[in-house]
Amino acid sequence: MKHTGLISPFRRREAEKAAMSIEKTRPPHGGHGEQGITVLLKRMRDAVAQDSSAQERLDLLTKVIASHVVADVCSIYLRRPDDQLELYSTEGLNRTAVHKTRMNWGEGLVGLVAKRHVPLVTSEAPKHPSFSYRPETGEDPLQSFLGVPLIRSGKTLGVLVVQNKAAREYTHEEIEAAQAVATLLAEIAASGELLSQEETEAVGAMLHLPEKLKGFGIVSGIALGKAVFLQPPTPKHRVFAKNPAEEAARLEEGLNDLRQSVDDMLSSNAALSGVSREVLETYRLFAYDRGWKDRLRAAVFSGLTAESAVEQVKAENRARMSQSRDPYLRERLHDLDDLSNRLLRHLSGEKNLGQRPLYDETILFARTMGPAELLEYDRKRLKGLVLGEVSATSHVAIVARALKLPMVSGAPDAMEQTEEGDQAVIDGDVGDIHIRPSAETLEAFRNKQTRYHELEASYAAEKSLPSRTKDGVDITIQMNAGLALDLPFLEQTGAAGVGLFRTELQFLIGSQLPSVASQEALYSEALDLAGGKPVVFRTADIGGDKTAAYMEHGNEVNPAMGWRGLRMALDRPGMIRPQLRALLSAAAGRTLWVMFPFVTLPGEVDEIRGLLDREVERAKRHQKELPADIKIGAMIETPASAWRADLIAEKVDFLSIGGNDLAQFYFAADRDSERVQRRYDPMNAGFLSFLRHTVEKVSRTGTPLSYCGEQSADPVTAAALIGVGVRQFSLPAAFIGPFRRLVRSIDSKSVSDWLEARFVEPHVTLRPALAQFLKDSGASAE
Ligand code: PEP
Ligand code: MG
Repeated sequence: MKHTGLISPFRRREAEKAAMSIEKTRPPHGGHGEQGITVLLKRMRDAVAQDSSAQERLDLLTKVIASHVVADVCSIYLRRPDDQLELYSTEGLNRTAVHKTRMNWGEGLVGLVAKRHVPLVTSEAPKHPSFSYRPETGEDPLQSFLGVPLIRSGKTLGVLVVQNKAAREYTHEEIEAAQAVATLLAEIAASGELLSQEETEAVGAMLHLPEKLKGFGIVSGIALGKAVFLQPPTPKHRVFAKNPAEEAARLEEGLNDLRQSVDDMLSSNAALSGVSREVLETYRLFAYDRGWKDRLRAAVFSGLTAESAVEQVKAENRARMSQSRDPYLRERLHDLDDLSNRLLRHLSGEKNLGQRPLYDETILFARTMGPAELLEYDRKRLKGLVLGEVSATSHVAIVARALKLPMVSGAPDAMEQTEEGDQAVIDGDVGDIHIRPSAETLEAFRNKQTRYHELEASYAAEKSLPSRTKDGVDITIQMNAGLALDLPFLEQTGAAGVGLFRTELQFLIGSQLPSVASQEALYSEALDLAGGKPVVFRTADIGGDKTAAYMEHGNEVNPAMGWRGLRMALDRPGMIRPQLRALLSAAAGRTLWVMFPFVTLPGEVDEIRGLLDREVERAKRHQKELPADIKIGAMIETPASAWRADLIAEKVDFLSIGGNDLAQFYFAADRDSERVQRRYDPMNAGFLSFLRHTVEKVSRTGTPLSYCGEQSADPVTAAALIGVGVRQFSLPAAFIGPFRRLVRSIDSKSVSDWLEARFVEPHVTLRPALAQFLKDSGASAE
């Protein structure tokens, strides 16, 4: 298979490095031939296939493992419904201790492994602070201990323990072999192929216990619904196969189907919607990787079903790559997991990997998701979102906020802990995710949701009150929008207009560039729905994380700092001119407010004005009616434009600070990365003083300035922005009510003075201190 040149050379090198690294770290027993772990898995299969009692089979299994890893002792502890870990089988300890010895969760080395969820290795077990001596087991002379958790669906089901009398170091290969065995043991325990029916049911119940996970609230609000995965879950399957040759043939067929589907996706532009081409190119590298296939085949020939072989190799890759220090390699884990899951679905004969059907009330779970993908789902059914790692200012979050979809991110185990169809509740205010909540929890959240709606109603009741601070400063409140369906919120919130209409959303949703007619239709509909209130149309800000499937974006290593916004417009007049044409005719006879994104240098404003003038001339030549007035604005989103904001201000009718991008570039912290976003709070004294400096510069020119970054949705940051002198805001509809209440409760002068005294402070964030100050002075958004 020849690869096309669509993946960037840099990414390709990195992906190849990832594939090679999986190869390099492959244990000697993982390759071809019937040796090492392959033999062990085969013997385990034979043990499980015995026609004997569950206990006898388990004991035989323990014996097989003990002899393979040359251990004096090998024991299997299983978790009981009361969370105790019971010794179920042992080779080497006193047999009378079986079903008698029990450890509490977190107690002793076994309990610690279960609680921490990770392997524990020590050559001096009795000296370990958590060591707990159990005389009935007769483990006195044992020095070395290797314990590995049996994990299934993110839950510890038990612990596999290997012990030796001598103080010895377990090798890397031995630890990996133990992990491979533990993965398989967990699978067998859950599959019903080993334990009694009653015990299997107990394991099943354990996998379905309620869970509360902690993430970050990205879009506030409460949502209840059933879990659906953007990537469908892997179907149920048996662990061991009767006929390895048949399984190998199934595996071959599944792999061929998988490779074909990845090739198809790459060659078909339409099918690419929402999935970045680069990710697929990386998929393809992995899908065709020889080493992956070899290991899958080896696992099948050890007696596993093709599905179990995929799970087994997936777990091995996980164990190795998750320890890598290289973040790129760790990231590739997702690709490998996704690819493995796709292969499992091909094995089950499921071919349709497209949009997922939703329940009447659905919480959608995904590792990542693009803004366009989100818009494809039925919003009546979609109630909330749980995403892997996205930050509050990523575009998928912005769209979710516009749709009032509560969203939580940053809970890495969320998908492991959940099964499709599980009841879920998310609390976007605090970032909690409840999986399979108890009836009481569910009831409590239904009540909270009702109170939430009541609070919203109370904000709506205040929509006509003046947004004036206690010391008499008027603050203009506008709304951010991007879709026609946002416009009714103007009336509901009492916003003074739309301060930022993100026109690119229309470009991102479709499978081709929108026609001039459809653009014009959207803009005039928005103006009609606004009923005379101003709507500031921001020209398409495409690039960065906003990629359209039908456009060639190139392969930039840093797309956020790449060819995007105004840069793309100036280089591609063929795209911006039709948009300007659509805007001019949509606003015929009315005022057109048009704003340009990502201005970096003052001269760029002259260039774009030149293009607009040409369109005006063209319209005149065609005797088209023109807008009654045209107001031109520029966004201040880069430190370069903030620094020269006064010069830019001289060239335009208004300015708007795009704080999402400005903060990203001020801190050099990717707005899409929750990990770095957590470090840099816009409530940092440096950033706030930088903003104040910019506001002052602009105010000397007399050009109106607003702030349309999403940060003003947070009341403490909003107060600080008022404190640095911002007098006009544009923010998501959902936050306008609280924002107005906050404005009406603060004294802007006292906040300014408070900040002034703290601008020199080196603190990472002024948030807690300002929150306290606001509280003490009676200011609140609630
Ligand atoms: C911003 O950067 O703050 C902004 C409003 O633009 P966007 O979020 O669409 O990049
Ligand atoms: Mg921006």
